[in-house]
Amino acid sequence: VTVASTAQQIRSAIDGWRRALGAEQVIVDGSAISELLNNASGLNKPEVPAYLKARTVEDVQAVLTVAREHKVPVYPISTGKNWGLGSRIPPRAPCALLDLSALNRIREVHEKLHYAVIEPGVTQQQLADYLRERGLPLIINLTGSSPNSSVLANALERGTGFHRQRTDECRGLEVVLSDAEVVRTGFWAERTATEPHFYRHGMGPTLDGIFTQSNFGVVTAMILDLIPRPPRIALMCFAFNDDALAVVIDRLRTLYDQGILRWIAHVFNDARMNTMNTSKNPPWLAISAVMGDEDQLAYYRAQLEAKLLPLGTSLAFIGEGQVDVEGADPMITAMYDVHRGKPTWGFLHGLYHTITGAVPENYDELDQTTFGMLACLPVLPMLGETVVALRATITAICEAHSLHPAITFNPLDSTSLETVANIYFDRRDPDAVSRAHACQNELHRTLYAQGVRFYRTDVSSMDFLTDRPTGHQRTIHKIGLALDPEGIIAPGRYRPAGP
Ligand SMILES: Cc1cc2nc3c(=O)[nH]c(=O)nc-3n(C[C@H](O)[C@H](O)[C@H](O)COP(=O)(O)OP(=O)(O)OC[C@H]3O[C@@H](n4cnc5c(N)ncnc54)[C@H](O)[C@@H]3O)c2cc1C
Repeated sequence: VTVASTAQQIRSAIDGWRRALGAEQVIVDGSAISELLNNASGLNKPEVPAYLKARTVEDVQAVLTVAREHKVPVYPISTGKNWGLGSRIPPRAPCALLDLSALNRIREVHEKLHYAVIEPGVTQQQLADYLRERGLPLIINLTGSSPNSSVLANALERGTGFHRQRTDECRGLEVVLSDAEVVRTGFWAERTATEPHFYRHGMGPTLDGIFTQSNFGVVTAMILDLIPRPPRIALMCFAFNDDALAVVIDRLRTLYDQGILRWIAHVFNDARMNTMNTSKNPPWLAISAVMGDEDQLAYYRAQLEAKLLPLGTSLAFIGEGQVDVEGADPMITAMYDVHRGKPTWGFLHGLYHTITGAVPENYDELDQTTFGMLACLPVLPMLGETVVALRATITAICEAHSLHPAITFNPLDSTSLETVANIYFDRRDPDAVSRAHACQNELHRTLYAQGVRFYRTDVSSMDFLTDRPTGHQRTIHKIGLALDPEGIIAPGRYRPAGP
C-alpha cells in the first residue's frame, strides 16, 4: 500500500492537524523542515509537508484520524537520533513527521519487579536520573548513543544495549493503530491500576513483536525491564591479534554456554577503538561485564583467565576504582559507565574527535555537522570461521571504495552475534558521500548474495532487504493490510509496498 497524496489532500490534512493540535504544533515552514532533515547519513531530503508535535496519546489519535481521512501518511519519531540509519528521514515520501518527544512521562517504576512504564520521549538520561534521584537499586541497559535518545524507540528498532538486546526487555506495549484505537498488549489490556506487570506474553499470540521494526502502529508507551543493580561490576578487557579472531569467537561461545559470560560482549577492531581514544590500540579488544558479589567475580575472573589468556595478548579486569580517576582511558570509562547504568557522551565525543570540521557545543547536533556515518548491520551464527569470512568481505569491499570500516562484533549469547560495520565520511566532499553510499549499497548486496542476513537496516537499504517473495513477508503484508489498510503509518518501514 503506497499513499500518493495529492497537493489538495496535503493542504486538507495540514488544516486538520492544525485544528487538532493547535497551529504552533504544526511546522510547515520549508526551511525549518529542511534543517530537521539534515542527516548524518548524507541522504537526500524527501518531501515532508509538515512536522507535527504531539503532546498526548489523544494527540496521536487525532493525528492518525486526520492522516487517514486525507490519505497523507505520517512517520513517527521519538527523539529522531537514528544516526547512521537515516536520522529523521522517512523511507517514503511525501510523508509528515510525527514528533513524540513531548510524550515523556515515566508513568511508573516498580522496584521489586524491576520495570518502568515509559513513553516515547523518555530519554536514557531522564530514566537514569529518575532511578538515581529516588535511590532505587535498579539500572538501565544503556546504549552508546546520546544520553538524550529515546529508550523506547531504540527498543522498537531492535537496538542493542550494552547488556542485552533492548527488544527483549519489552513486557508490553501501548499502541495507537491507524483507526485511532489504543491497544495495550498482553495482560496489560485487562490490568487494574494497582496490579503489577510481571509476565510478558499474555495468553494466545504475542503481539509485542509485530510492533517492533514495524509500521503497524504508533507506540505510546512500553513496559521496560530494568536490571537490579549488582553489588559489583567489573569489565573484562581482552586484547588479541587478528589471526586469533576465529578461535576467540569460538571460545567466547563456549563461555556463554557455560554461563561464565552472561551479557553481550563488544569486540572492537582497531579502527573502531581509534574513534574513542588516542592510545596505541591492539588489533582487537573484547569487552564484557562480569557482575555479582566478590566470590562470583573471583570465579568468573579465574575462568576467563584460564580460558582466554592463552589465546590473546592481555586480559585485564577493570573495577570502579580504575575509571573514576584522572587520566583513565576515555573508552574504558565510557564502557564502564554504560555497564553501570550511567549515560555517557563518551562515544559521541570520540566520534567528534576523529573527524575534521567543527565540534558542535551540543553533541546532539550530529545531524547538523559535516560528519557522515553509515552503518551495515549483519547478524551471524556464533561461529568463528563465519565471523572471519564476514570481516574479510567487509574489509575488501570498503577498501575497494578507499574506506576503512570501524567494525564491532557483538556476541549476544552462545548462538548469535551482531555486527556493526560503520563507514565514516566527510559530508562536505561530494565524492566521499557518493563513495560511502556506493560502498554501503555494495556491502548489503554482496553480503546478502552470500547468504548473510541483517538484524536492522538504514532507510535506504530497507526495500532491498525486505522486498522478498517469502511467506514471512506475505504474512507481514496481510497483517499490515488489516491494521493499516490505507498505509498511513510510516510507509515502507521494514515492509515494502504491495503484496
Ligand atoms: C556514537 C553512537 C553510538 C550509538 N550507539 C548505539 C548503541 O549502542 N545501540 C544502538 O542500538 N544504537 C546506537 N546508535 C544508533 C542510534 O543513535 C540509536 O539507535 C538511537 O537510540 C536511535 O535514535 P532514537 O532513539 O532517537 O530513535 P528514533 O530516531 O526516534 O526512532 C528510531 C526508529 O523507530 C521508529 N519509531 C520511533 N518511535 C516510534 C514510536 N513511538 N512508534 C512507532 N515507531 C517509532 C522511527 O520511525 C524510526 O524509524 C549509536 C549512534 C551513535 C552515533
